[in-house]
Amino acid sequence: MNILVTGGKGFIGSHFIEEILKRNDITKLWNVDSGTYASNKNLPFENDSRYQQLSMDIATSYFPDHKKYFESLNLDYIIHFAAESHVDNSIKGPKKFIDTNIIGTFNLLEIFKDVNIKKFIHVSTDEVFGSLSYKEAEFNVDSPYRPNSPYAASKAASDLLVRSYVKTYKFPAIITNCSNNFGQRQFPEKLIPVCINKLKNKEKIPLYGTGENIRDWIYVKDHVNALINVLLDGIVGKQYLIGGNNEISNIQLIHSIVAAYENITNQKVDWEWFEYVTDRKGHDFRYAIDTKDFMMEFPNFKLSDFNEGLRKTVQSYL
Ligand code: NAD
Repeated sequence: MNILVTGGKGFIGSHFIEEILKRNDITKLWNVDSGTYASNKNLPFENDSRYQQLSMDIATSYFPDHKKYFESLNLDYIIHFAAESHVDNSIKGPKKFIDTNIIGTFNLLEIFKDVNIKKFIHVSTDEVFGSLSYKEAEFNVDSPYRPNSPYAASKAASDLLVRSYVKTYKFPAIITNCSNNFGQRQFPEKLIPVCINKLKNKEKIPLYGTGENIRDWIYVKDHVNALINVLLDGIVGKQYLIGGNNEISNIQLIHSIVAAYENITNQKVDWEWFEYVTDRKGHDFRYAIDTKDFMMEFPNFKLSDFNEGLRKTVQSYL
């Protein structure tokens, strides 16, 4: 099969490519990535003869020539990861988020609308559903869209565009919304790599607000396995919520990171290792995913052990 990935030099996309190329039924894989600051270099699959990098910006790639070119690739599947992904950046400067996440997704939909493909997987986030209180039930596919940050709003807009192409043009898309990922190769602006780098430098970890905000964390390899299940066996037109069944507060999370760090380095973290900083504007309190539907549809999908994933992650940044 022939696959086109967007954003495959980024954190999740690069793990997806690494995993899918382990299959021997992949003939060719193209990776459309403009190489932003968040992209990785020297990826393990770059020398695979089936892999081809296409340095293109999805925000500016709506040209008839592209359509002809992509038609000629005989693609079976497209999986769309490319995005501006950091909430804090979206608060400081939302324009890029509109360009890549909304216009970029629109451009892809227009390019592939009339191309004969089996499936288009649109990889999105649980942040589109907004924030939960302690008591509220987890997000499910019927949860209303209530994005609170410009990042979440741009992803929500892209989800809705994809949905509209499914309904209007019978475009064979699937939307997935996943919780917070962690693992190797995440750009060191995100919480877990920030913590590890601060520990390495014996600096204080900055913790927004009271540290009580809750996130559901999933190991990136588990997310990628879930996506491979969706790509191969997911039903066109459906939306899947993917989570780690692992809700923890930010303060609990950094305690676990410190424990993993101490264990791996055999070194005591004996300095004042965190400080509370002014809360993020519009900071969502809690995200949580009801994974029952996904687990029922993909009974062979298993989540790995959180502490083991965290240990591998900490190790990879040392
Ligand atoms: P990332 O920021 O690590 O990587 C994004 C990649 O997209 C980079 O390689 C970048 O160069 C590329 N890119 C950005 N703008 C582009 C453009 N205009 N044209 C072409 N390529 C461009 O992101 P990530 O954390 O790997 O997230 C991947 C996807 O998964 C995103 O759509 C994100 O919304 C979604 N998601 C992420 C998480 C998470 O915890 N990281 C959770 C749920 C969903």
